Amino acid sequence: MPHDPVAPSAAEAKVRRRADFLAGCAPATRRIHGPIVDLAASRGHLNPRGLGHARAFSDLGSLGQSSVGFETLGDYEAADAAGRAPYGGAEYGVVQSPEADAVGAKFAGLHGGAGAIVCGSGLAAIATVLDAFAPTLVLIPEGIYFPAWRYMAETGRAELLTYPAGASAEAVGALLAQAGKRVAPRDTLVYLEAPVSGTFEIPDIAGIAARAEAAGVRTAMDNTWASHLRFRPLDHGIDLAIQATTKYEGGYGDTPSGIVVARGEADLARLRRQLRISGHGAVSPQTCTRLFHRVDGAKARLDRHAATAAALMGWFETQAFAAQILSPTRRDSPYHGRFQAYFGAGNSLFTVAFDEGLPAGRLHAFVDALLLFRVAESWGGHVSLVLPVHPRRDPAMLPTGAMFRFNAGLEEAGDLIADLEQAARALVP
Ligand SMILES: *Cc1c(COP(=O)(O)O)cnc(C)c1O
Repeated sequence: MPHDPVAPSAAEAKVRRRADFLAGCAPATRRIHGPIVDLAASRGHLNPRGLGHARAFSDLGSLGQSSVGFETLGDYEAADAAGRAPYGGAEYGVVQSPEADAVGAKFAGLHGGAGAIVCGSGLAAIATVLDAFAPTLVLIPEGIYFPAWRYMAETGRAELLTYPAGASAEAVGALLAQAGKRVAPRDTLVYLEAPVSGTFEIPDIAGIAARAEAAGVRTAMDNTWASHLRFRPLDHGIDLAIQATTKYEGGYGDTPSGIVVARGEADLARLRRQLRISGHGAVSPQTCTRLFHRVDGAKARLDRHAATAAALMGWFETQAFAAQILSPTRRDSPYHGRFQAYFGAGNSLFTVAFDEGLPAGRLHAFVDALLLFRVAESWGGHVSLVLPVHPRRDPAMLPTGAMFRFNAGLEEAGDLIADLEQAARALVP
């Protein structure tokens, strides 16, 4: 057959037909379909390119869209049969995006794991671990991040056994030995979080991991405080590292997300399967692209957070109204030895226990007089924050005065101290 160089390809002909057809359609139809006339050029996505900047960072140009369109029924059936669409799932585009894959690969490298999954929040990452491995017994530290406890307690699927936040390996080993008489190792999970939110106790992480491994029990650790920069749980025998990447990895409070890094391939496969079941892997590509790049600058930020936190703690030390400062970076912390062994350097967080004689009204006035510190939850971002700490546990183990947790942001330390100084006038009569 003679080749006609000017004959349009089938795809080009279709582009023209579609454009002509759309020209005769109502405005509402044209607004939806008009921006994409060339379906092949849109790489399957149903929305126009250029919405946000995700495409610029992605080989495949995912815009995080729900539907993945196919040129023909045959294309769809072939992708479906292979369990593969342009990226991952023929059935539905939110299951996993190339941006999420890129973030997972990066964090797997940072932690030295077999692979990682990305979820829509730190809590979703924690929930995904519990759902994927479905333990019927979970050992948790006293003082565990409250929403993690709530998820475990309110789903009611697992019995929860609490160990002290600063536990020794022996203490957790004894609990494991007891549990082993009732529950199979594969149905048991040892869950760690260190240092614990607000009060910063640190258990014998490596010792606990060794006991669990010897008992054939899986371990997972919430490593949000440390991030990969201060601690790599897998290096210390932990099976699954969880991080709320909403915090230091994103750094500006605009990357709501969480990761789970698995040490082994089999665990990774279970986590991936769980994402497909639950939909927790639907993380916006904007979040993924921010996270992908921001994590590269996390060390400079974290070091600056830590230096500023140290300067602020130094100021509080000289104030009579500060009864105690809680931070594992301090030599007077009972966990300082473990802190040095595991983490080596601090972060943005510390807690001040105020003099118990201070009336509550004065403390309120102090916090309300602060001009740079915002009253807000979360931490690890550029803005300095303050929040009351209400640990849910034996008060005999805690300071008696009211406690406030500070997040040292990326502002100039001198400005933050000047702010504390002016607000502290509200503390004295
Ligand atoms: C913030 C936080 C989480 C959860 O992160 P989200 O993204 O807010 O769900 C989990 N663990 C710890 C220790 C945290 O501080």
